[in-house]
Amino acid sequence: MDYSALLLQIENQLQTVHKKGQNYMNIEAMPRVELRRVIEGLGAIIPVEKDISQKQQEKQTSFPNHPDQSGMIQYKNTHPKFFPPPADIAENQDKGNKVKQQSLTKAFAQIVIHQESAKKINTLSELFQKYEDCQRCALGKTRKNLVFGRGLSNATVMFLGEGPGADEDAQGEPFVGRAGRLLTKMISALGIERSDVYITNIVKCRPPENRNPTPAEISCCLPIIKQQIKILNPKLIVTLGNIPTKTLIPELPGITKARGKIQQYENWTVLPTFHPSYLLRNRSAMPLAWEDFKKIPELAFNN
Ligand code: SF4
Repeated sequence: MDYSALLLQIENQLQTVHKKGQNYMNIEAMPRVELRRVIEGLGAIIPVEKDISQKQQEKQTSFPNHPDQSGMIQYKNTHPKFFPPPADIAENQDKGNKVKQQSLTKAFAQIVIHQESAKKINTLSELFQKYEDCQRCALGKTRKNLVFGRGLSNATVMFLGEGPGADEDAQGEPFVGRAGRLLTKMISALGIERSDVYITNIVKCRPPENRNPTPAEISCCLPIIKQQIKILNPKLIVTLGNIPTKTLIPELPGITKARGKIQQYENWTVLPTFHPSYLLRNRSAMPLAWEDFKKIPELAFNN
């Protein structure tokens, strides 16, 4: 059986089902599997299958040590049903089939492990434990501390910045430098304690020289913030600046236009406003930011 062709066929069929908007399928004796992962799994296997068939083909055509080349030509031109292949070729084909089967089983097993490990994380501390040694992007190599987030584990409002700076990196806590002190003052001016909210960033490790995180770094770190939001389930997410706002809702315009307008990210209400470090550089924007902040108590604390 041509497994490569079969897998390509299955992949095409799965792609068609997926395009129709069906995201899950049941595979016998397996838990519910996200279709995208099956497609990715098959995509990862197919090159292996091609390699295997190519190697088998090379073996069948070259046979450098075979004493009777003419015998091999005869075999190649003969129907295998009546003239079964020599034992060494049959053995190689069997081995190839076993490897293919193992590749599939392994890929599906990985899908299941991934899903089950994602299911088990129910608290922010479990999520932190999962990622505390994270090296998914290059920022992991240069950080002093991973800045996961700080605040009430059932806070109704989450403040979301872009990434830790030098002070945050040194202390392992978000928004503790000059911009952090301004944020704390603004929260207190609303009559709320900083300890009653949850504060975090899109990326958890400091980008060197305080540069913006790159799109690749953001996408590596995105699963963490997505899970933080799901676990915390806040009534309101206040995005501070362009990067967190456009990471959650890419279609929004720049922060100057988007600020102060209530938005929706999946199940959560989002209020975009300026980043405190922008306010330190542009004091004239402070009244606008304060207008936005005044909306927080109503959106986050009123039933
Ligand atoms: S920035 Fe995020 S993805 Fe990159 S190493 Fe740190 S925790 Fe991991």
